[in-house]
Amino acid sequence: MNNYSYLVGNKLYINLTNRCSNSCEFCIRNTDAFHDLDLWLSKEPSESEVIGSFPELSTVDEEVVFCGYGEPTYKIDNIIKISEYLHACGKKTRLNTNGQAEILFGGNVPQKLRGYIDTVSISLNAVEKEKYNTLCHPVLGEKAFEAIIDFARECKKYIPKVVLTVVDVISIEDQKKAEEIAKKIGVDFRIRHYTE
Ligand code: SF4
Repeated sequence: MNNYSYLVGNKLYINLTNRCSNSCEFCIRNTDAFHDLDLWLSKEPSESEVIGSFPELSTVDEEVVFCGYGEPTYKIDNIIKISEYLHACGKKTRLNTNGQAEILFGGNVPQKLRGYIDTVSISLNAVEKEKYNTLCHPVLGEKAFEAIIDFARECKKYIPKVVLTVVDVISIEDQKKAEEIAKKIGVDFRIRHYTE
């Protein structure tokens, strides 16, 4: 069965695609299941299939998250339509992304998300491109890391809340450097625990 959305506690997550431009060492896709859920998809859903998979929305947290087993921005049109629905139901939306959408797809992705996404959480994951490439193996190679920083800067113009994140698999020193990068751009910063 395809799990197009899933709950962790009362938090509702949306699983649009398994495609990703990275192959991170710490990716939960390297595990068989996440919270006992199989998040591999045999087919990518339409927006109505995603909405049809939701539990009663009054029972879930206010914020609903576009997440994965993959990079949600591969399905940006679905993100926009589902966000419209969620907003009409009184929910807020968060996009968890690897921050490479602009360089992958172009067309000013941050501007397209304006009014639909309330928070964008961007995985920075490292503090320089060599380290990023070693940890995340981006198909974009050398171009990926700077593209993520540019994406965060652009998102700041259009999206109410922007957060850069790292996973605590990197050194404490690099976690501090990453926080400095976030400060320079003027966005929030969060350290994710590996098990999250
Ligand atoms: S960016 Fe996210 S989905 Fe893609 S490989 Fe890395 S952790 Fe997995």
